[in-house]
Amino acid sequence: MEKKNLDWSNLSFAYMPTDYRFVTNFKDGKWDEGELTKDDKVVISECAGVLQYSQSCFEGMKAYTTEDGRIVTFRPDLNAERFENSCRRLEMPVYPKEKFVEAVLKTIKANEAYVPPYGSGATLYIRPYMFGSGPVIGVKPADEYQFRILTTPVGPYFKGGMKGIKIRVSDYDRAAPRGTGHIKAGLNYAMSLYPIVKAHEDGFNENMYLDAATRTKVEETGGANFLFVTKDGTVVTPKSNTILPSVTRRSLMYVAEHILGLKTEEREVYFTEVKDFAECGVCGTAAVISPVASVTSKDGVIEFPYGKDEMGPTIKKLYDTLTGIQMGRIDPPEGWIYEIK
Ligand SMILES: *Cc1c(COP(=O)(O)O)cnc(C)c1O
Repeated sequence: MEKKNLDWSNLSFAYMPTDYRFVTNFKDGKWDEGELTKDDKVVISECAGVLQYSQSCFEGMKAYTTEDGRIVTFRPDLNAERFENSCRRLEMPVYPKEKFVEAVLKTIKANEAYVPPYGSGATLYIRPYMFGSGPVIGVKPADEYQFRILTTPVGPYFKGGMKGIKIRVSDYDRAAPRGTGHIKAGLNYAMSLYPIVKAHEDGFNENMYLDAATRTKVEETGGANFLFVTKDGTVVTPKSNTILPSVTRRSLMYVAEHILGLKTEEREVYFTEVKDFAECGVCGTAAVISPVASVTSKDGVIEFPYGKDEMGPTIKKLYDTLTGIQMGRIDPPEGWIYEIK
């Protein structure tokens, strides 16, 4: 297989169509076989459920070239499970997790030429998504759905690289108690666009959302979970039913406890505690983990001892270990790495 002639080291985090995408349709109560296609256009009813009532959900994952030249992806079974949960909560037909994983592997294989080479800093981003394609006008779930997987080669998510990002506490809420914060619904992102555009205008990279009920506890950013490190080296992550269960965060917490031998806590984190942490990072598939330099709220600016110009030592160890596993330099825990053959 010959790689595409792309400037791998200078890719941005933007969409670039690749040769193949996976498509399957749900009709008359069942999914068809599904196929890889070169057609990057979607044709649906003008009255499709997704267009009228935003019935859609998605996943995000990556494929990597390892040091020894294998193409791998990371824990797709967890994305598959989460996708099932998203579908259920949105009254969409579940796409079974075994078939999800199979389709992801097949789509990566078909686009092998776009998986960036080892050491380029780039990866192949994989975007599985489902939407109501059948017409609805009265409020109800659509009768027909499409599930697709597109891939696109991407560079690093935050252009600043390893410099800490600036975050502010948002005046808006991301997720209501008993709402949809725990699933990967497109609508969670639609409503976060206004606050993120405002944050960017005011010179911040991301919003920190607090729990909507009491506005005293840290939840997450618009698309990444928080990790904190206490001054005595414990890794802490917020626990809440309205946080999206990040695969990256769950993996980093495992790495912290079982590989690095650190103390870990998943618990409620009050905003008043944030000033006492030594390190702060946000994590997700797109950026793995980005150090946070500061958090600004109405009460002032919290600057972490680490994060302004570099990652703190614990976050750096977490980052190096997880990316080492993904790039094949460190032996993975069982079942984490799926090789594309
Ligand atoms: C996707 C997502 C994350 C990150 O999850 P990963 O599985 O690590 O990519 C975090 N928060 C929200 C709201 C998300 O949608």
